[in-house]
Amino acid sequence: MKKNFMPQMYAKSIYTVNYDLLKKKGITCLLFDLDNTLVEPHAKHVDEKLKKRIENLKKDFLIIIFSNSMKNRVQTFREELQVEMNHTSLKPHAYSFRKVLKKYHLKEKEVAIIGDQLFTDVIGGNNVGIMTILVDPLTTNDFLITKYNRYREEKKFKQLQEQGLLVKGQYYDEM
Ligand SMILES: [Mg+2]
Repeated sequence: MKKNFMPQMYAKSIYTVNYDLLKKKGITCLLFDLDNTLVEPHAKHVDEKLKKRIENLKKDFLIIIFSNSMKNRVQTFREELQVEMNHTSLKPHAYSFRKVLKKYHLKEKEVAIIGDQLFTDVIGGNNVGIMTILVDPLTTNDFLITKYNRYREEKKFKQLQEQGLLVKGQYYDEM
């Protein structure tokens, strides 16, 4: 399978994603990566800013935390934000993506994933045919397993940059 590393949108953070455009494109469900996308990897709770933003997004979208982290970590944030969740998602594997589409009766074109990693969030989303939105990681602090992905990601970023496809810090709404 050809791995597609290119996100359809790239934003600095979840606070600068063009949600109006997503709505216009018919997106009704947002899958949010948790660590380094919604919260810092070692955070224990959400802050007010995040709470407000998610509260606002809930008016337009079904919000699902879609994380590779284990249940007890994801559960905390799910409860604080009052959203849906899928834990232990094994991104980039397609299994959990398909499970969520089925569970919530969603079509691929109605769903977008927002995450900070090319090798999990973007490849995973692209492989199942949903919209993919890359954001910069909140911190350079990563869980051990992510550190390995970051190393590969750095190399991939370099390649994409050389091809003029994806340049760090050059955000875009549409490819
Ligand atoms: Mg992440």
